[in-house]
Order: sequence, then C-alpha cells, then structure tokens
Amino acid sequence: MYEEARRNLVAKLRSKGVSDERVLQAVGKVERHRFVPEALRMHAYVDRALPISQGQTISQPYTVAFMTEKLRVEPGDKILEIGTGSAYQAAILHAMGAKVYTVERNHDLYERALRRFDELDIRAHIRCGDGTLGWSEFAPFDGVIVTAGAPKIPKSLLRQLAVGGRIVCPVGDRETQSLAVVVKLGEEEYDAEEVPAFKFVPLIGREGWSVK
Ligand code: SAH
Repeated sequence: MYEEARRNLVAKLRSKGVSDERVLQAVGKVERHRFVPEALRMHAYVDRALPISQGQTISQPYTVAFMTEKLRVEPGDKILEIGTGSAYQAAILHAMGAKVYTVERNHDLYERALRRFDELDIRAHIRCGDGTLGWSEFAPFDGVIVTAGAPKIPKSLLRQLAVGGRIVCPVGDRETQSLAVVVKLGEEEYDAEEVPAFKFVPLIGREGWSVK
C-alpha cells in the first residue's frame, strides 16, 4: 500500500537536498502510515510532522532524513535514539541495518512502540525511562540521535558515545532549536557543527528540561 506515495516522498526529499541513497532507500521502504494514527493515514506521506498521542509528534520526514544523513549510519552500527515516539525514526535506522537502542519516557508511547516493533518484526531494543541519561548498559554507541529539543547536549550521551562516533541533537530554547552535530574525536575532544532552525517537542529529564 501507498508505494507511489512513498516514491513521491523520496523524490520530494531528494529535491530538498537529501542525497544519502541509503537514507532515501529506507524512507522508500518503511511504511510511515503504520506509525501515524489511523485517522491521519492519508497524510502519512506528506512531508509534515503529525500528532501521535500524548501531545507528541512524529517528526517531519525531511527532519528524519536530514538528521539520519547527518548521523552517517553504517550497517551494523550501534545507534542510540532518545525519544522513540511513534518509532518511525527507529524503523528507518533498523532498515539501514543499524542495531537500534531506543529510549522513551512516556509509558503509553513506549508500550505502543513495543507492540509496533513486534507487529513489524523490527528487532530493536527499547526501554522506558529518562533518555537524557542514555543507556549505559549498552554503551559505547557508534551514533546517538536525540529526537526532542534539549537545552544542551546531555553529558551522559557524550560519555556513552564511542570515539569516532557522532551525536545529532537539537539544542536551543523550548521554542526553536538548531541541530548540533558533534563528532567525538577523543575521550575529551569534540568537533561540533550547528545547523539552524528546527522545531522539536521538549526533551524532558534530569539532563533535559523540567516537566513545566
Ligand atoms: N523519534 C520520534 C519523534 C518523537 S517526538 C518519531 O520518530 O516519531 C520526541 C519524543 O521524545 C516524545 O515521544 C517524547 O515523549 C520523548 N521524550 C522527551 N523527553 C525524553 C527523555 N528524557 N527520554 C526519552 N524520551 C523523551
């Protein structure tokens, strides 16, 4: 279902500058309509963020593609995602051959994601809890992707990144963020780039924002 809509979405992302063929292939393959509420399925392949539940959103396809491209995922990489939400981003990483570890703080979303992984036969590791603290048990990670806006990059996440690994994390105030892309060059040495103008729901937690 929706194959043509997916092809059009891939063409749209390409026209917006996404060029990593493996990212585009994953977007062409993952059925985004399975990750949005039933009533919004017909909008699943429009390049827009959509509400899921619990006041959260499934990120815009362009944002997912852009962030994933910045992460430079290689097959077999161990990737930590913070903010599972609909689990679409996790499914994209999985489709690219990554070993996915994802953390969601909202219990209801966590349970839905767990069911969705099961239904779609996606073997990803998922935990319910405060992702600002990472998932130390499985560290180090080759890449970390934060899909909610943080006041700054949580130190725990930098610590759990392998040397040579990258983290992409939206940072800014509660309203607008830029996307920080950081490469860990050595235990205490980082190279950072910032891409302006993104809009994410807040990252809430010990090393994130307070609830309100
Ligand atoms: N990656 C998601 C986008 C979800 S929006 C997708 O593909 O659909 C961001 C998610 O981050 C929300 O579900 C929110 O509940 C979650 N979140 C916010 N703070 C968090 C934290 N500290 N740890 C884990 N998840 C968090």
